[in-house]
Order: sequence, then structure tokens, then C-alpha cells
Amino acid sequence: MRSVPPLALKYPGGPLLRRRHGPSGYSDVQSFRPWLRDEFSFRCVYCLVREQWGKRLGEFDLDHFEPVANSPEASLDYDNLVYSCHACNLRKGQRQVPDPTQHFLVSAVRVHLDGRLSGSTDEARRMIAVMGSNSANLVRWRLTWMRIIDICQKNDPELFVSLMTYPDDIPELSALTPPSNSRPDGIDRSYYARRASGTLSNGFIV
Ligand SMILES: [Zn+2]
Repeated sequence: MRSVPPLALKYPGGPLLRRRHGPSGYSDVQSFRPWLRDEFSFRCVYCLVREQWGKRLGEFDLDHFEPVANSPEASLDYDNLVYSCHACNLRKGQRQVPDPTQHFLVSAVRVHLDGRLSGSTDEARRMIAVMGSNSANLVRWRLTWMRIIDICQKNDPELFVSLMTYPDDIPELSALTPPSNSRPDGIDRSYYARRASGTLSNGFIV
């Protein structure tokens, strides 16, 4: 049995608050999508489902962390947007949750081998409760993917790479032209730039 956090479902290691990207001035939310895909490593910020595990089209939403109903002025604020699977976005709805980029971190959320999550901070526990992270369906889903990745790692290296790597169509952020960008340096640390410079050599996103 493993004693380390399962590779497939490991929450980020540090606060994501210092976002790499800062586009602004777009008049529609969908223009932020390529930036958010890169910012959140092509995974749902809440449940960690990866683009590579599904069909992607229609499966990922741009979620307003602070619901637009409460803060209409933040509807086009990049820092108020997170990359979320459709199911998690539905579950969250208009409810207020702690900022996942600050509280859904490996230091605060433990993924147990039985598929459950537990939180070591009040915010993480509240997030787990609000998001229904320990519902029977989600626990079963988590167990399924932990086993798939584990089995692939041992027996099917090709499928393992395909499930753990970044998607083929990594957005080329340097080609985009947002009206402004408060963190232009982040483009050099985007997945596209890192692949071009050869620093994504093993290709895994963990
Ligand atoms: Zn999700």
C-alpha cells in the first residue's frame, strides 16, 4: 500500500495566490480560458480531474470563485476566476467557499487511500463539506482514478504518460493579445514556453 499522497490526486504544494498570469480588459469571460487552463495546470481546482481524463469539450467551466451574484463587478476579474470541472461548478453553485487557491493545498487536504478527503484547517474542512467531497459518488470516483493511475504506472507506461501529461493543445499565451496584462513575466513560465525550452522533459503534471 502507498503511504504518500496518491500521484493522481495530489493537491498543489503551495499557495497559488501569486498567479503567474494577469490578463485583464477582456469583455467576455471565455477569453480568459487559455490563461486559466495554463494557470490551473489543465485540472479542476476542486477535484483535480484532468483534461486528459475525459473528452474535455463542455467538461470544464470558468468558475467565479466569488459568485457574480454577490460581486457583479468581479465578473471579468481574472483573479476571481478558477478552472473548474462542470460537476464541481454545479455543486458549488452560488455558495461561498474559501478560496481554493489558498486552502485546497497538499498541506491542508489529505487524500486517504479509501478515497476520502480530510482537511487540517477550518477552511479546508468547510470546502470539503460545501463541495460534498466525501459523497459516495466522489469517493468512488477518487478510488477509481487512484487505482487506474496506479495500475497504469506499473503495467502500462504509455497510458500512464497519456493520463498524467499535459494536453496536446497547450495554449500559446504569447500569441494572445489581452488589452492588458499585469503579470507578463508569467508567459515565460507557461507550459507552452516550458515545453519549447525543454524544461517539461518528463511531461508529467503532478
Ligand atoms: Zn471538479
